[in-house]
Amino acid sequence: MIRKLASHLLWIPFAVWSVSFWGQTPTTKVVALRCGSLFDGRGDTLRKNIVVVIEGDKIKDLAPSAPSGAEEIDLSHETCLPGLIDTHTHILLQGDITAADYDAQLLKESPEYRTILATVNARRALEYGFTSIRDLETEGAGYADADVKRAINNGVIPGPRMQVATRALDVTGAYPLQGYAPAITVPHGVQIVDGADSARQAVREQISHGADWIKVYSDRSYRVREDGVLDDIPTFTMDELRAIVDEAHRERHKVASHAMALNGVHNSVEAGVDSIEHGNYIAEEDLKTMAARGIFYVPTIFVGEYVAQGRAAEGAPVWVKMIQIHEDTFKRAMKAGVKIAFGTDAGGFDWKVNPAKEFSSMVKFGMTPAQAIRSATVTAAELMGMKDSLGMVEAGKFADIVAVPGDPLSDVSEMEKVDFVMKGGVVYRHEH
Ligand SMILES: [Zn+2]
Repeated sequence: MIRKLASHLLWIPFAVWSVSFWGQTPTTKVVALRCGSLFDGRGDTLRKNIVVVIEGDKIKDLAPSAPSGAEEIDLSHETCLPGLIDTHTHILLQGDITAADYDAQLLKESPEYRTILATVNARRALEYGFTSIRDLETEGAGYADADVKRAINNGVIPGPRMQVATRALDVTGAYPLQGYAPAITVPHGVQIVDGADSARQAVREQISHGADWIKVYSDRSYRVREDGVLDDIPTFTMDELRAIVDEAHRERHKVASHAMALNGVHNSVEAGVDSIEHGNYIAEEDLKTMAARGIFYVPTIFVGEYVAQGRAAEGAPVWVKMIQIHEDTFKRAMKAGVKIAFGTDAGGFDWKVNPAKEFSSMVKFGMTPAQAIRSATVTAAELMGMKDSLGMVEAGKFADIVAVPGDPLSDVSEMEKVDFVMKGGVVYRHEH
């Protein structure tokens, strides 16, 4: 899989970059995608033999046959789907299973070097089929995500549509790098704030430098209580958390909260954040509140499985137990009617690993393949505030379309085999 992608990277970029370098925007030419099957994002079934008609960067029509004069792309042996959306990524990270992995990136790599690597990760995300991502903070690389987003939007480099969180917020003593001698000044993976005024000022700063979302780390230091509840230390006071949410919302921006356990989730929900990230344990009453207020749950299951063994070996066995707790929470969230959006934490694991493995994790935890795919299309588009333009294959939406060789509704791991990617009417990958 990885080797296949590596060789693939050698030749696809030429086609992509030749488009990008010349600043060529999609013309109003008409393209007809002949799809053998189509998952349009609306129903639970595949529609057969549909032609998706594209004009410029938008879908114009779904028809039984191609209009005359249209340029045809043959996907008649493929299943077409809406472009995938990963609502939790870190393009500035190259995997951080252990604390040492993380520290090395902040201590030994310049933000400039990390940004160069991030442009490669953005291209990888797109080639995996993720035509949109919400990148949830740069982990010490400042505002580099806003610049990568700008380079993509200006056609300088290939990559997904991006919403970015820039630096994220946490309090003194709560976020790495930690454990160095007091006299040594080390970089941190967040902007540190203490007190409501300081938090408000940081929100203003980040928004002024391009943050679409404000990311907060609401808890840390996890342990499983005897009754099986995952306990934590909440980072912010309610005063601080409320100030952050109030300031972000006042400026028409949303708040994503890293909250893995009891208190972090509860405080975030009470403060009125817009999404709960990870949510390994969520109390029943908080799930009810999330469902009632439309707070999204972004469970990031696969990364938990991926890092658990490494972190257990490092002396933190709680990460293994958290997987079982997570499964129970996921099932309860589905039952409670909470909106679950697809997010992977890619970058928390190596970008050479396909983040679409999350689909299989969600199905293993109890979703149907169709539910898992909708979480990465329709529901994710809603979380991004873009459900009018993304998340479905229908007239008027952006022409963000991917295809896989088989039937993802009978085997959801097909989602790891995307071999056609179109974003905004431009083809970035086509292997047939
Ligand atoms: Zn993350």
